[in-house]
Amino acid sequence: MSRPVRWVTAFTGSSPGVDPGYADAVASMGRHLAADGVGIVYGGGRAGLMGALADAALAGGGQVVGVIPEALVVRELGHRELTRLEVVADMHERKQRMATLGDAFVALPGGIGTLEEFFEAWTWLQLGFHTKPVALFDVDGFWQPLVDMVDHMVAAGFLASGYREQLIVADTPDGLLSALNGWRAPSGATDGRSPA
Ligand code: AMP
Repeated sequence: MSRPVRWVTAFTGSSPGVDPGYADAVASMGRHLAADGVGIVYGGGRAGLMGALADAALAGGGQVVGVIPEALVVRELGHRELTRLEVVADMHERKQRMATLGDAFVALPGGIGTLEEFFEAWTWLQLGFHTKPVALFDVDGFWQPLVDMVDHMVAAGFLASGYREQLIVADTPDGLLSALNGWRAPSGATDGRSPA
């Protein structure tokens, strides 16, 4: 079973990265999603690549929903021009809400916050708590060291190759969107419910 991808939950850096090419690639993804009528759910920040993604999608006429914990809004880190900014109590509620709203999870370049969110989404898929595709948008080989580590885990017997094969790695917005829409949940997976 799979569902049409109408909302993508995006994880990406609150920093811009040293190379302006990261922001360009992330903005291009934002424009692409907007042009395809795919909304973005993300962490609600205005800094770094998060802001670049949201701004580009909004400028392209797309819908962007931010989900941000109260503590970060108070520190004025929230983006004020979004389609909707949902303010939640804490990080746990944020991740739960972001997981519920999106039809797919995509990690764009980022730091440890991005990694943590990506791995949680992928782990939940492995456990059968949801049946939504999980992807890496691989800008200029940014995610290759992580992909190598994942392949190393398979070789070392800590990750079943079937779970590795479920992971989408794409380096263009077109390639990513078509992989998300062509993805099929593993047979026997249960749907919908993520751990509270
Ligand atoms: P990082 O990759 O460490 O920069 O963290 C980015 C991820 O963590 C994003 O996907 C957000 O969900 C969350 N995050 C980190 N910093 C912020 C911030 N200043 N405002 C909103 N969300 C943030």
